[in-house]
Amino acid sequence: MKALIIATHDGQQLDPTLANVITAALPLATDGVAVLVVGHNVSALAQQAAALAGVTKVLQADAPQLAHPNAETLARQVTALAAGYDWVLAAHSLVARAALPRAAAQCKAAWLTDVIRTAADALERPAYAGAVIARVKPLGAQTFLTVRASAYSAAEVAAQAAPVEAVAAVDADTRTQVLGTESASSTRPDLARARIIISGGRGVGSAENMTKLEALADHLGAAVGASRAAVDAGFAPNSVQIGQTGKVVAPELYVALGISGAIQHLAGMKDSKCIVAINKDPEAPIFQIADFGVTGDLFEALPQLQSGLPAA
Ligand code: FAD
Repeated sequence: MKALIIATHDGQQLDPTLANVITAALPLATDGVAVLVVGHNVSALAQQAAALAGVTKVLQADAPQLAHPNAETLARQVTALAAGYDWVLAAHSLVARAALPRAAAQCKAAWLTDVIRTAADALERPAYAGAVIARVKPLGAQTFLTVRASAYSAAEVAAQAAPVEAVAAVDADTRTQVLGTESASSTRPDLARARIIISGGRGVGSAENMTKLEALADHLGAAVGASRAAVDAGFAPNSVQIGQTGKVVAPELYVALGISGAIQHLAGMKDSKCIVAINKDPEAPIFQIADFGVTGDLFEALPQLQSGLPAA
């Protein structure tokens, strides 16, 4: 059994979730894990991938037309190389969710998303916002899947780097062209990788009050998250929404302030290692999954948290 992992990157750095996807691939790939790096002038990125433990080979598709591949071009490149691989994997990112189903269709392969457990006998993925875990056994010859990176530990750096092999680049699909990408800049840690997340819900009351949570986050070196109700009310940007239709996170510490704990919110954070909830309603469902709960006003608790916890 062989696996091919599609690495995603911003041209400068590999997305660190690659290390988690390698861990996800290992139980499936008894005969080796190859990583595909697609782009232009990406030899340094290919070397970074080759340095990760568990990788047996890196394929580098490097050409000017691959500098900013659209989903169709990336799918075309994956399809060109997928033969012979039983499993084709990527982290559950926007890029992979656009490109991989196209490639799976072209290869007539099975397609699974957001897998949280990989084993030779069956795979597991959440359904109904995490209320149900589906066990799935692919029956075809080839399966494409995205994996939830936060469900897996990151592969370590290898003692010896794997070989890097240049592969033929495909022509770009010219029906659309990516002109460039702009990412929001923030001094806070990225939500997907933050060790601590301070998250606010409708109970925070206003965008102005949200800055009090941000101050606590900065004190702790944490990222800021929000419930959908808080985002819809304009307290926080859409990019920090956590839940079924937002980001899925699993930090070491998740502090939920003024969040009731709707199932759609829990779908995005219930795998956090330690959950602290502060809510004035003792019946709030968030307390059912919280490791530590405070029944009370979050605005009374915030200053105490800030003065009682050491700064990062
Ligand atoms: P509320 O449910 O209104 O809870 C506010 C809480 O704040 C209450 O428990 C209240 O007791 C507490 N509170 C108020 N004032 C204070 C105070 N001063 N101190 C302490 N506590 C206080 N939601 C998400 O979060 N993420 C998603 O991705 C998401 N996707 C969805 C997808 C679909 C298809 C649907 C239908 C819904 C989705 N939702 C999602 C919405 C979800 O159902 C809830 O409506 C939402 O999570 C509620 O947000 P909340 O807990 O902030 O607000």
